[in-house]
Amino acid sequence: MPEEHPTFDGLGLIPELLSATKRAGYERPTPIQQLAIPPALAGRDVLGCAQTGTGKTATFALPLLQHLDALVSNKPRLRALVLTPTRELAAQISDSITTYGEDLNLWHTVIFGGVSDKPQIAELRRGVDLLVATPGRLLDLMSRGVVRLDDVELFVLDEADRMLDMGFLPDVRRITKALPKDRQTMFFSATMPPQIRRLAEGLLDRPVSVAVAPISSTVDLIEQKVFFVKKADKRKLLVDLLGDPEVEHTLVFSRTKHGANRIVRQLDKAGIAAEAIHSNKSQGARTRALDAFRKGDLSVLVATDIAARGIDVDGVTHVINFDLPNVPETYVHRIGRTARAGASGTAWSFCDAEERSHLASIEKLIDKRIRRAK
Ligand code: AMP
Repeated sequence: MPEEHPTFDGLGLIPELLSATKRAGYERPTPIQQLAIPPALAGRDVLGCAQTGTGKTATFALPLLQHLDALVSNKPRLRALVLTPTRELAAQISDSITTYGEDLNLWHTVIFGGVSDKPQIAELRRGVDLLVATPGRLLDLMSRGVVRLDDVELFVLDEADRMLDMGFLPDVRRITKALPKDRQTMFFSATMPPQIRRLAEGLLDRPVSVAVAPISSTVDLIEQKVFFVKKADKRKLLVDLLGDPEVEHTLVFSRTKHGANRIVRQLDKAGIAAEAIHSNKSQGARTRALDAFRKGDLSVLVATDIAARGIDVDGVTHVINFDLPNVPETYVHRIGRTARAGASGTAWSFCDAEERSHLASIEKLIDKRIRRAK
């Protein structure tokens, strides 16, 4: 069990990384950090069952940086690889590594698809110690000889179950085949379906297993309400809810890209500024919308599930499910965007007649009845 009043001091981190946790504003380690950082620092493989929001990025990033720092060479060599499914996650992990590694003399970069590869290639040619990558772009640059994995000593596979959902497992297997056998591996997944468990078994050597924040305990921090509403009345309800001044920083989920665009147009007509993020938007447009939302210049972001997965924006006060997802786990991922790192949050869901069965499956998964709005 994690300690009740833990500190970062007892985990075995070097001063340069302890100062990084202070810089990041972390007062105490989260449960997964307490449980996994010490064995990871000792060189053990780690199997982490944890979703975004638990502090898992620091859990792998701090030990990676500490290992790399222990053996800094004059010319950087690619010694650590972090593989993650989406561009947004890749960019966020890279930003975290920039923060955590500020006092160390290490080089890292991030590569993902959907943008020009030229600056990425230029960075790689200059040499990096650590690379954060999505599978497609990494394979592409490997096949063109820009990236070689022969010197990788540390490998992190992030959000393995999401890799499976997005159809990336064959790519992941091709990448892991190119890794040296002698390495340390950290494997993270929010859920452990059989295919993921098998993948983990093939990649890990006598791992330390850590599991934190079972779905229900995260969900318990979130105040949830469901509104029974006719499909045609959802827009008006959304406008009414967003009109409340207490509803500050809101992520609205739409099942489809077209739906997301439609919601933005309708909010616009009602005088509420909103932007959509989904895979038909250019990377630039997505980044701009996310930055504006992060800075607080934009208070409503409308997202599809894939675009929103793993997006880490502090201070989301409300999540609104304009549509209920037909996969109940998606509901948990969505509402987990609020109540990050232990904060509380509010999640409202619209349920029309056709979505009643989705609601029933969600309530079964989270094992509680969601309050009905009056
Ligand atoms: P992650 O699960 O890695 O996506 O982290 C979720 C959020 O928690 C990010 O905003 C982190 O900066 C934040 N976080 C990570 N570790 C801690 C900590 N020990 N204390 C407070 N916040 C943290």
